[in-house]
Order: sequence, then structure tokens, then C-alpha cells
Amino acid sequence: MSTFKALMLTKDDAGTQHIGWAQVTEADLMEGDVTVRVTHSTINYKDGLVLSGKSAVPRKFPMIAGIDFAGVVETSAHAGFKAGDAVLLNGYGLAETHFGGYAEKARVKGDWLIKLPKGIDAHHAMAIGTAGYTAMLSVLALEKHGLKPSDGPALVTGAAGGVGSVAVTLLAKLGWHVIASTGRLEEADYLTSLGAAEIIERKELSEPGRPLGKERWAAGVDSVGSHTLVNAIGMTKAHGAIACCGLAQGMDLPGNVAPFILRGVALLGIDSVMCPMPLRLEAWQRLATDLDLKKLDSMTRTIAFADVIDEAAKILKGGIRGRVVVNIG
Ligand code: NDP
Repeated sequence: MSTFKALMLTKDDAGTQHIGWAQVTEADLMEGDVTVRVTHSTINYKDGLVLSGKSAVPRKFPMIAGIDFAGVVETSAHAGFKAGDAVLLNGYGLAETHFGGYAEKARVKGDWLIKLPKGIDAHHAMAIGTAGYTAMLSVLALEKHGLKPSDGPALVTGAAGGVGSVAVTLLAKLGWHVIASTGRLEEADYLTSLGAAEIIERKELSEPGRPLGKERWAAGVDSVGSHTLVNAIGMTKAHGAIACCGLAQGMDLPGNVAPFILRGVALLGIDSVMCPMPLRLEAWQRLATDLDLKKLDSMTRTIAFADVIDEAAKILKGGIRGRVVVNIG
């Protein structure tokens, strides 16, 4: 049986995780009804955590890293897919409990797969990746809450990162006045090119603040958490909302209930991993119509599969601008 390349995590008897390149066969893959030839993957913050070798994200060992992939179906016993279909997969426990996308082949449940939407090829699907799909889920949550651009500005925190860059681009295209918060003021021109109308410095939000501040925005996408999220909520206009999707600053939420009970502000939780399929499909359909692919290209770099370990180390330090596609096959 022919072998293919995978980036594998193992754990020794002392509990130490090890990352290494492995040659595996189809017989080594986990259970599933669809086998995919993976052509592209990407680097999200969670991939950085997995490849740090110190996180609790992988819950089974050995584990193939990579929380998402795009590729072509090779064989399928699932009624919804046939050989040759171009597909993508985000989350559903990839790199946690099921072998992930940093491998030339993947075997998964067909129920987890999405056919590439019209107009999005495998490269663009992974330029979007889990980060961009999460940005879209956040925008959808704000819209489903009833918010619209005429209600006031939209804040995006961690704006130069993956989720942030796509969120800025989407919100600007949809007509929002976007306020981008970044710790990298040297990226102001980049953020303006994506559609940000105002840039604010990360430290305006990242330090402990007052529970209720001046009302500055009607909506927000926060990929940062901790004091930043608390300040974002505290400066949200009455009956506005913040979509909470990340923890780049911290997992804590050191605030109080004042914005919720005195201003009716809503905190909207975003989970990309186990997001129900109808909402995933809606998000990918909206990405296909509402995301400017030229802007997506301008925020994306492509790297070789061999370079994924070095690149993933950068993301945990906030060292990656926008998105990175990994060329797998
Ligand atoms: P990135 O590293 O690309 O973006 C994170 C950004 O946050 C950085 O670029 C930086 O932006 C900012 N940042 C980094 N460190 C700090 C800090 N200490 N304090 C304040 N801001 C900081 O990661 P992703 O965009 O891939 O992911 C962002 C977050 O969203 C992660 O926490 C990730 O786990 C989460 N996430 C959650 C998902 C879900 O299902 N809920 C799915 C996908 C991602 P800048 O330099 O502009 O300040």
C-alpha cells in the first residue's frame, strides 16, 4: 500500500508531546465514509496551539494536526459525495479527536464535509479557513441579532490577525463603519486597504477599564477576550452586541453585568467547531457572495507543507498578518 506524508503528534509515557513527519498509509487513517486527497490546509491560532506541543487541544494520540482542509474526494460511501467532488472541512474535532488536515489524505465522515461553494476554489477556501469562516459566523450572529450598519460603527479587535482581517473586510463590504483595534499600528495602511475607517491602538482596550464607558460602537467582533472583550462590551451602544470568538489576550472575562442589565448589550458566543451544518452552509454561501477575493488575496501568503511547523510558531506570538495557506499536495 502506498504511503503519504502527515504531520503527526505523539505523546510519550512522561506525557510529553512530540511533533514529527510520518509516512502513513490509508489503513492508518481513522474511520469515515469519505476519503479525500488533501490539496490545501491553513494555519489558524488553534493550529499554533496544537503544534506548540503543549496544549490540551489534541485529546487522542497519535494525532494528525491541522484543524481544516480542502481537497478532492477520492472514494465515498456517503450519498452526498462522489469521487472528484471538491470539498472543505472546518473543525468537527480535526486535530482534537480525529486525524486532521496536515496530511496528503484524510478519511472523515461525509456529514462533516461541505462542497466548495461556486466561485471558491480550494486555495481560497483555505485562505478563508476556520479563521475566515469564524469571522463570517460572527457577522451572521450580529445580523441575526438585528444589527445593521445604520445602528453605528462595528469594532473589530485583533484586527490584523486572521479572524480580524476577514471580519474587517466583510463588515466594510456590508456597509459598516469599521473601527479596527490593533497592537500593530504599522499595519494601519493594510487595515485601511481592507476597509477599516478608523484604527485604534490595542492598549486603548486591553487594560482594565470601567464597566460602562462612552458608547462608541453598536456591534463588534472580538477575537481577543479578557480585558479587551470587557472594554468592548462596556463601550457598546444600548441594545448593541459583541460576537465573542477568541482568546488571543486571555480566556478570562474580568467584568460585570452592568452593560447587560443597564444597556441591554448582548454577548454572542461563536463556536466554529461544532456549529450545526445549516449555519455552516449559510456562512460559506455568504463568504462566496460577500467576501472580496482580491482583498482576500491581499491578506494571504502561501507556504509549503514543509514550513508549517515554523510558521505555526509565529501565530501564537501575534506574528502573522492576515491568513496563511499551506500547500499540501
Ligand atoms: P491570529 O493570531 O491570526 O489573530 C489574533 C490577533 O489578536 C493577533 O493578530 C493580534 O492582532 C491580536 N493579539 C494577539 N495577542 C494579543 C494580546 N496578548 N492582546 C491583545 N491582542 C492580541 O489568530 P486567529 O485570527 O486565527 O484567531 C484569533 C482568535 O480566535 C484565537 O484566540 C482563536 O483561538 C480564536 N478562534 C476561535 C474560533 C471559534 O470557533 N470560536 C475559531 C477560530 C479562531 P493585532 O496585532 O491586530 O492586535
